Amino acid sequence: MSKLANCKNCKREIETKKRQCPYCGILNPTVTLKDIFIAMIIVLVVMGTVTYFIK
Ligand SMILES: [Zn+2]
Repeated sequence: MSKLANCKNCKREIETKKRQCPYCGILNPTVTLKDIFIAMIIVLVVMGTVTYFIK
């Protein structure tokens, strides 16, 4: 079973593994700026934590 997400452009439900929306044709339709932002925050927090415990 594959995960579903909404296309950021046309809001239709599509599989997250799809590289292109089958309805409106945009690339990486399930990757939003919010996802990228959250991923960056997680990376920063993890790096900060690791740096804190290493020294
Ligand atoms: Zn779409």
